[in-house]
Amino acid sequence: MGILEGKRALITGIASNRSIAYGVAKCMHREGAELAFTYQTEKLRPRVEKIAAEFGSDICVEMEVSSDDSIAKAFKDLKGNWLNFDVLVHSIAFAPTEELKGSFIESVTREGFKTAHEISSFSFAAMAREAKSMLNEHASLMTMTYLGSVRSVPNYNVMGPAKASLESSVRFMAADLGPDSIRVNGISAGPIKTLAAAGVSGFRSMLKHVESKTSLRRNVTIEDVGNTAAFLGSDLSAGMTGEILYVDAGYRNLGMNFDME
Ligand code: NAP
Repeated sequence: MGILEGKRALITGIASNRSIAYGVAKCMHREGAELAFTYQTEKLRPRVEKIAAEFGSDICVEMEVSSDDSIAKAFKDLKGNWLNFDVLVHSIAFAPTEELKGSFIESVTREGFKTAHEISSFSFAAMAREAKSMLNEHASLMTMTYLGSVRSVPNYNVMGPAKASLESSVRFMAADLGPDSIRVNGISAGPIKTLAAAGVSGFRSMLKHVESKTSLRRNVTIEDVGNTAAFLGSDLSAGMTGEILYVDAGYRNLGMNFDME
């Protein structure tokens, strides 16, 4: 029996079969969860429907997180299929590509800063607010974050402060929802080649660097992240909330790593 047997999980942020959310869906499906999905725009619906079908689901609802109405409507639409559910996976981020290269100070704009925070951070709390009345006791909410929240990383720029805000939201949301036995956590993944990641300038060099330096001497995969997400969604992690779990092959713990002469 899988660790998510009897649970229903809503998965956001699938853009392709390289998306982190795809790895999460794959692992949660393997562990017995029933899945539903969101897509950003009508144009992307066929792609997400095809992926949903792979996991035995025909529940796909539109959710464009820059709109409060769209978020509210998505949960209303979901209610047409599920009156309640157990797991919410937030796997969405965006910042203008021009701001993901070069100097942070020189590239950051008022609008870009606002957009990055709105789409990548505010959307998690906004989703939780709409989802709350549908969440079962012992529900688990999770989001995807990155080391750039707590360390400066070349070219990650405005996404760093946005992820710091997201991680702070995890802690506030965990405190809010804890009394209702609902948990909120984040997974800080190492770099993985996805559509969103391709927007960060020099991403290939980042992958090479991590692979050669990190403790496990490899980059992580969407399945590595998906397995941790399945654990977080399950009752095996029942005592954990407000945490950021690092799935980064050990990179976060290194102060320095070079060959001794
Ligand atoms: P991805 O496959 O490109 O997924 C990003 C998702 O965000 C896409 O499905 C995209 O939808 C969605 N999205 C962007 N703006 C949206 C909006 N306004 N409304 C609704 N959806 C929107 O990339 P990913 O790497 O898997 O990213 C998933 C999460 O993991 C992000 O939070 C990212 O920061 C985080 N993360 C990634 C890495 C990495 O190295 N890849 C590492 C750590 C954390 P469309 O494609 O339809 O625009």
